[in-house]
Parts: sequence; C-alpha cells; structure tokens
Amino acid sequence: MSQTIIIGGGINGLLLGALLSHEGETVTLFEKNRFVGGRAFLYEKDGFVLDYGVHMTRLGPKSPVAKIMRQLGINIEFRRLGNSYLIDYDGQKVLFPTSPAGVFKTRLFTLKEKLKVLGLLVKIKKGRFNKLMDMSLKDWMEINNITGGIRRYFELVSASLMVCPFIEKTSAGETFRNIQKILKTGHSAEYPAHGWRQIHKTLTNEIEKSGKIRLRSKVEKVLIKDGKAVGVMVEGKEYFADRIVINIPVQEIFGILDEKMFDSKYISLCKNIVPTSAVFIDLALKDKISDINGMLYTYDPKAYGMITSNVTEGIAPQGMQLLTMFYPISLEDMTDLEKRKMRRNELWKAIKDFFPDIESHIYWKRETSLQMIDGVQVNIDQTEDKRPKSSVPGIENLYLVGDSIAAPGVGGEIGNESVLITYREMTGSSF
Ligand SMILES: Cc1cc2nc3c(=O)[nH]c(=O)nc-3n(C[C@H](O)[C@H](O)[C@H](O)COP(=O)(O)OP(=O)(O)OC[C@H]3O[C@@H](n4cnc5c(N)ncnc54)[C@H](O)[C@@H]3O)c2cc1C
Repeated sequence: MSQTIIIGGGINGLLLGALLSHEGETVTLFEKNRFVGGRAFLYEKDGFVLDYGVHMTRLGPKSPVAKIMRQLGINIEFRRLGNSYLIDYDGQKVLFPTSPAGVFKTRLFTLKEKLKVLGLLVKIKKGRFNKLMDMSLKDWMEINNITGGIRRYFELVSASLMVCPFIEKTSAGETFRNIQKILKTGHSAEYPAHGWRQIHKTLTNEIEKSGKIRLRSKVEKVLIKDGKAVGVMVEGKEYFADRIVINIPVQEIFGILDEKMFDSKYISLCKNIVPTSAVFIDLALKDKISDINGMLYTYDPKAYGMITSNVTEGIAPQGMQLLTMFYPISLEDMTDLEKRKMRRNELWKAIKDFFPDIESHIYWKRETSLQMIDGVQVNIDQTEDKRPKSSVPGIENLYLVGDSIAAPGVGGEIGNESVLITYREMTGSSF
C-alpha cells in the first residue's frame, strides 16, 4: 500500500487525501494551522456558521467537488438560487438574468438587446473558444459592438463569475468556456444544503480511517534525493513517504522547495501568478431583512453577495439572517492601506443601496480583506495552459494540487478540478 504525504489541509488537500484514503492508501496530512480548511475554513459564532466569504459551488451537482464526494459514497444536495437582483448604474433595482427566461423579463436590456443576448448565448453554447483565450473581454466587446445593458451584464459576469472586474484583463475565451459549462449542464452557482460543515467532516473522517491529520505542523522543507521526493521535514523531524503532494498556493512553494533544483523560468512562473483579491463583509443580523434567495449585485461598485441563510437552513439561528457581500479589487489596491479603506467604504455603500437601514439590524459583523481569494486571476496572461502543471518538472513523486495550477474552470473550481487531475496522475485511475 502506498504512503502519501500531503502538505496543507486546504479543501483540495482534504479532497485528494480522502480520495486516496478511500482507495486504501495511507495518507499523512500536515497542516500548519490548528484547523483544516485553509481559505475555505468555517467560523462558528452564536449559532451562525460563516464560510470565508460565501463558498458557492459552480455547477452544483455537476461540479468536480460533487463528483469527488460521489466517489466517496456521498451525494451532496445542492440548493439552487432564486431570483437575483442588480442595483444598476442609475440606482434602479432590476432582475439580474440567470436564465433565458430572465433575459426576457429583466429591464436591464432593451428589446433589441434581449434578442442579441439570446443570440450570443446560443453561440456560446455551441462555440469553441481557443482563439479567444488571449483576447480580453474588453477587446471582444469592442470588436462585437457590445454596448448598453449587454456590456454592463458582461462587466458583472467578469466581476462575479471570473472574480475579475477588470475587463481589459479577463480572458474572453475562458469566460465563454465557463458560461458554456453553465449552459450545457443547466447548473450555475449553487450552495450545499446545510453548508460546508458536513463536507469537511466527511473528508477528515475518511483520511483518518487509515491515516493521520497532523495540525500545527508546518512543513519546513521537502526532502529530495536523487531527483525523487522522499519525505518532508517538520519541526526538525523527518517523515518519509512514497509520494509527496504540495497543497499550498504555487506562489509559496519555494518556501519549502530548494530553488537550486529548479529552472529560473519555472520559479518565476510560480512566484508571479497573480491571485484575485477582495474585501468582504459578513453581517450576522438579529432579525429578518429580506426574502431574496438569489444574488445581490451592484453595478457601482461591482460588488455582489447574498443572504446565505435564505438559501439553506442550518447556518443562522431561527429568526436571524446571515448576509455576506463581496467586492473583488486589484492586488495593488489591496496592498495600499488608503485604497483598501476606500474600497471597503464602497462595499458598505453597496450594502446600503440594497438595505438602507441595515445598521439597525446588525447583531455583529466581520470585515475582511484578503490578498488571495482564488490562487489565480484567470486573465489573458494566466489562462489554464500558461499555469504550472500538476507534476513538478525534474522531480519524481512530487505533485501539486490547488487553485493556482493548470486545471479548467475559475476560482475554487480550478482547485477541485486539479484534485481530479493530480489523482489521475498519481494513480493512473480514469475516474
Ligand atoms: C473569501 C473567499 C471567498 C471565496 N469564494 C469562493 C466561492 O464562492 N466558490 C469557490 O469555488 N471558491 C471560492 N473561494 C476560493 C476557495 O476558497 C479556494 O479556491 C480554496 O479554498 C483553495 O483551497 P486550497 O486547498 O487549494 O488552498 P488553501 O486553502 O490555501 O490551503 C492551503 C493550506 O496549506 C496550509 N499550509 C501552508 N503552508 C504550509 C506549510 N508549510 N506546512 C503545512 N501547511 C501549510 C495552509 O494553512 C492551508 O490550510 C473563495 C475564497 C475566499 C478566501
């Protein structure tokens, strides 16, 4: 039976560890924190269960995470979202379309625009986008004379689906590839019934059946002998295994890998991957403010969120609600204190655009800003084919898994897809 060491207990380390464990392999997972989950960790207070931001699963039951859970014998139930709304550039609240019927109903588009959007969606559903991977969404819109409501719609799709409000950077090809999956599967962003707690528990139990999760165990170094990864060093002690998997963002892997063993181009590629950044605000509300169970968008700023407790039970106490609003911003703004404050104030404006008297409903709040939301911003310089692969060049038995490597999709989906890719490479399985 093979022994595998996984470095990092983020959701993708857990998913891979559980898959291997389920196949009868022995997994030892080292996590530097005193809890697992990484950027998908859960925070519980006063009966509220908060994700870090809201963790939606794109494609719901057709997502890679659902596929992995099914392999483990668990069918996750997903909740579809209800109607979504947008506070448009002129302050008007309109339906934000998430289906062809929504395109007809919304006041976001004129009649002529509605017909054009439907035509575009048909083309996207059938299309191939290889030639558009290096073209920005902005250039594509200019070439195709996309204006008015349709342009605002694509700007918001860029901000939310692609977590990149910078249309001059977002890859048009990657955007359409992601929209195509939604159109083909009939599933958009959905939320696991009862939240993520049960999924985390299932994964840790599966690993611990025959292996170990070692918390507060920071890996200092990957041990490499004769071009093969053979183990890790943790607090001065060596641990050995047949295979080593690194589940930390690629930007950070040279904290535990010796740079001397790698090509400078590879080092620079990994270190310079640009992540997505955001400010976000969670509000635990002492009473009910709204029944909306879809997304809430604002055009200015390009922020979005939802009342998660309207989508599933089990994450807020009876009679109370949980609202999270999220605002993707640039890494440059994130690292500048004044700009970050400005962005946070803009996000408060977005919340108040929807709920002017929100202050009087707040039980407690959590305001957060993070340099890394998703490991990679899917922009024209960082499309799937341009990112580091699952296997590490020149070193045998060493693999990467996570949301900044070469795998299809966007955001968390990249990380979950990378689990499938790495698992297949490690085991030769066709699943
Ligand atoms: C606010 C927010 C909102 C998000 N919303 C969504 C969403 O709606 N949908 C979606 O799909 N995705 C979303 N994401 C992205 C998603 O959370 C990430 O893609 C995912 O959590 C990444 O998981 P990972 O396992 O690849 O990496 P990480 O979560 O970064 O895990 C890496 C782990 O390695 C540990 N570690 C690091 N160094 C060491 C070391 N030397 N030794 C031992 N352990 C180490 C870390 O502590 C961490 O636990 C969101 C992220 C955030 C932050």
